[in-house]
Amino acid sequence: MKYVSTRGEAPVLGFEDALLAGLASDGGLYVPEAWPTLSADTIRGFQGASYEDIAEAVMTPYVEGDVPRDAFRSMIDESYATFSHRAIAPLVQIGANEWILELFHGPTLAFKDVPMQLLARLMDRILTARGKRVTIVGATSGDTGGAAIEAFRGREAVDVFILHPHGRVSDVQRRQMTTATEGNIFNIALEGTFDDCQAFVKALFNDHRRRDALSLAGVNSINWARIMAQVVYYFSSAAGLGAPDRSVAYSVPTGNFGDVFSGHIARTMGLPISDLIIATNQNDILARTVASGRYEPLGVEPSTSPSMDIQVSSNFERLLYEICGSDSSRVRALMGQLAQQSHFELTENELTALQQRFRAGRAGEAEMSDALTDMVERSDYLADPHTAVGVAVARGLGARTTDPVITLATAHPSKFPASVEAVTGAAPPRPKQLQQSDDRPERMTVLPNDYTTLAEFITERSRVTRVAA
Ligand SMILES: *Cc1c(COP(=O)(O)O)cnc(C)c1O
Repeated sequence: MKYVSTRGEAPVLGFEDALLAGLASDGGLYVPEAWPTLSADTIRGFQGASYEDIAEAVMTPYVEGDVPRDAFRSMIDESYATFSHRAIAPLVQIGANEWILELFHGPTLAFKDVPMQLLARLMDRILTARGKRVTIVGATSGDTGGAAIEAFRGREAVDVFILHPHGRVSDVQRRQMTTATEGNIFNIALEGTFDDCQAFVKALFNDHRRRDALSLAGVNSINWARIMAQVVYYFSSAAGLGAPDRSVAYSVPTGNFGDVFSGHIARTMGLPISDLIIATNQNDILARTVASGRYEPLGVEPSTSPSMDIQVSSNFERLLYEICGSDSSRVRALMGQLAQQSHFELTENELTALQQRFRAGRAGEAEMSDALTDMVERSDYLADPHTAVGVAVARGLGARTTDPVITLATAHPSKFPASVEAVTGAAPPRPKQLQQSDDRPERMTVLPNDYTTLAEFITERSRVTRVAA
């Protein structure tokens, strides 16, 4: 498979180079040149199959030509052996036609483990084969950082710098990151928002001199491999409920638009999905865009679902490219407008294309808390606040068909004990994954919201630049 940039001015790359590049050199995001499809018979074959078998079938077309089949299968098996549930992503029924897809059985209890475990193994393999070393710089709204640190700690060929917004992640999320003891892990608490963290990561990638000197690699969902790995659980869950002979609907708690875009890809590949719902909290840029066609980041409001406190949804660019008919000059114009005027406006045709593909809604704290309480009382199910936003939005919009509605459970409630207890009156049980980080000391550096300070901090500490100097 070959990968092209949404902005059309970066080299066309194979899978491995696209994975290492992260952001394309023209500031765009890599997308496959063409979308593979799976036949109805292939999808029917997923009924009763293991997660690993489905993963291999769904992802192989994207890595073909770069990663040998046996090696790829071993990496899949090793990645999901770190999960504590045999089904990897089990479905739980909470209502007559309502289901929860639990994506939080990995080592850091959020869905980010699903792609990150695989990404780390893919990257390690490429770097070992090429005798190369990279500096990973990533931004986190709370869960990506922990998942990346867990997946990459102690790996010889990478140094990992994770930026989180100081004071805006939960204590559990912070401790998962800052208690890592390995020397290749660096935590930076930035005095800013997640959007500031993400903007600095992009600025580093667009700073070509530093990018080359650091041999920069990215693990945010701008990295195609993450989006790819998330496509798998749409197939496994839909087949579990009867696809391709029955269609299903999904509600996806959304921040950076990565997870729900993976659902869109599953549908493009042939999975019968009748409805894809973008569920946002009060930081509702995507709900507003789907309603009006105007994409306009406003200030971030902290919420009880911090991993969705995002106003600049990076992966939306991948969808823009599609609804603009793969016209990269149009994508460049829109992104240029966003940079200069802080908003852009879709044409009527583009808005129609967006609305044909997605519905969207927002749930504020009251709706989130009602959904969380209702699930406990009527379904005996304890969800985390992100998942509750997904359920609240799906219920608020109402079903359009009689298809099962699956809400993605993106994190375990124990990652947000204070918020869950405030709603339900009881602290969530602590799974074994959390108990190990309890009494270790924390290591992190607080840095001001300033690009040069950050860039120098990383350059001084990365082994890539230290070895070269
Ligand atoms: C990252 C995250 C999200 C948002 O996912 P995107 O792919 O950024 O849309 C939602 N919930 C949780 C718990 C997360 O960690």
